[in-house]
Amino acid sequence: MADCSDAALLLRRIPYGDTSLICHFLSEHHGRITLMARGARRARSPFRASLAPLHRLHLHWKSGRSGMGVLVDVQRHERLLSEEKSLAGLELLALVSRLYQEGDPEGYEQTQQSLRLLADRAEREGLNAACWHLLHMAGWIGDLGHCWMCGEPADAGVDMFWRQGQLCCAGCGGGTIIAPGLRRGIEGAMRQANVRLSGRDAADWRQMIGLVLREHGVRFHGQSGSPEYQG
Ligand SMILES: [Zn+2]
Repeated sequence: MADCSDAALLLRRIPYGDTSLICHFLSEHHGRITLMARGARRARSPFRASLAPLHRLHLHWKSGRSGMGVLVDVQRHERLLSEEKSLAGLELLALVSRLYQEGDPEGYEQTQQSLRLLADRAEREGLNAACWHLLHMAGWIGDLGHCWMCGEPADAGVDMFWRQGQLCCAGCGGGTIIAPGLRRGIEGAMRQANVRLSGRDAADWRQMIGLVLREHGVRFHGQSGSPEYQG
């Protein structure tokens, strides 16, 4: 058993046996890892208070030669989001949990960046911007300045379209209209924390995100929930 330690975010907790938890973490240098937290559900377990989502954690664990590592110690550091944005933050972690799989070396920095986008913005724009950033980092979306099919520039006054989770021009087949104002709004909200979108544009943006996820077979209902119950 090797001793390991790393900064990490908690993604999921799954009850195991009578008193333990299986925990999924996204760690800075070891990527996504799964660790057994023995006795973590006991009333007096030191893990109880420290295994919190949306906090920066520092983990110590023993890695198994085969099978799951065992959590030895967790230090809980600062909260990464305000209390009011906790539900949005959990929703974001549910998406992170689907994007980065066990053994994936990536994800920690991308998730930190996304959490900062959410922290700095109004909740509606922030959650959209955070999801958009993750999709961008995953290589699932491009920028809104050109058609993703043919590469033609998206002129400032011209409608573009959303089809199967991709931005395309009229010549490439059309789809749901993505008006210039919506593209400007999205680009603005990604760049700057104080940009607000109309309710309609924010809903359309959210729908674009949902359609990208659907194209990639990611079920994401946009429902907040405690990490224990994330499928
Ligand atoms: Zn095109």
